[in-house]
Amino acid sequence: MSQNQFSPQVCLVTGASRGIGRAIALELASRGHIVIGTATTADGAEQIATELKKVAGKGTGVALDITDPQQSESVIGDVVCEFGPITVLVNNAGVTEDNLLLRMKPSQWEKTLNTNLASVFRITKLCLKGMTRARYGRIINLSSVVGATGNAGQTNYSASKAGLVGLTKSLALEIASRGITVNAVAPGFIETDMTADLPEEQRDRLLEAIPLARLGQPQDIAKTVAFLISDDAAYITGQVVHVNGGMHMAS
Ligand code: NAP
Repeated sequence: MSQNQFSPQVCLVTGASRGIGRAIALELASRGHIVIGTATTADGAEQIATELKKVAGKGTGVALDITDPQQSESVIGDVVCEFGPITVLVNNAGVTEDNLLLRMKPSQWEKTLNTNLASVFRITKLCLKGMTRARYGRIINLSSVVGATGNAGQTNYSASKAGLVGLTKSLALEIASRGITVNAVAPGFIETDMTADLPEEQRDRLLEAIPLARLGQPQDIAKTVAFLISDDAAYITGQVVHVNGGMHMAS
C-alpha cells in the first residue's frame, strides 16, 4: 500500500455499542472506513447500524458475545462474506468484576479473564487469516493504565489488561513480516459506563492524580486508535500507547 493514499479498510470493532468502542467505530467510519461494530444484543447492533448511517458509514452493527467461540466464528465468517477480509481489528470489548482478591469468586476471575483476554486470542485468530493473505493488517488491543500500575480491587481486570500487553508484543513479533502491526492502547480513566459508578470522593482523588486535571473522553481514545491504524503509524508495532492525561508515565 502506498503512503499517503487513503484506502478504506474493513474494520471490526468489538463492544461498539457504548463508551470507547462506540467512539472508535464512529471515528473510523467518519474517516471513510467500513466499520462493523459489535454489541451483545440485537438492539445494540441495530443502534450501531443507525449511528453509523448518520455519519455516512458503510458498515453495520452485529450481535456477538465474544466469549462464545462458535458464535464468534460464524459472525466473523458472515462479516467476511458480506464485506471482505477484516484488515483492521479493534479488540475493545471488556468487562470489570471488581473485588478484593480474598473475596473474589472464581466466577468473577474467569469471566474477566475470558472476556478481556481469552476472547481476544480467539477473535484475533479468526481475523488473522484474511490479514495474512492481504499482507496487510492493523490490530489494536484495548489495555488499561491499571495493567501497568495495578489497582486494589482489580486483580482480575489488571491481570487481563497486563496479559494483553504480552499478547500484543508477542504477536507483533510473529506477524510483522506479513505487513501486520499490533499495538495496544492503554486508557487512563475515561468517562463511560465502566467508570460511571465511581464514588464522588474517589473521583476527586483521581482528578488530583491526573496532571491534565480531567477525566478522559472516549474521543481521546478514538483519535489515538484512528492514528494507529493510519498509514502515518505504519512503522509502529508492538507498542503500548498510554492515553491517560499524564497520570502514569510509563518508561
Ligand atoms: P463500557 O462502556 O462498559 O462498554 C463495554 C462494551 O463491551 C459494550 O459495548 C459491551 O456490549 C461490550 N461487551 C461486554 N461484554 C461483552 C461480551 N461478552 N461480548 C461482546 N461485547 C461485550 O466500556 P468502556 O469504558 O467503553 O471500555 C472499553 C474498553 O476500554 C474495555 O476493554 C475497557 O477495559 C477499556 N478501558 C476502559 C477504561 C475506562 O476508564 N472507561 C480505562 C481503561 C481501559 P453491550 O453494550 O452489548 O453490553
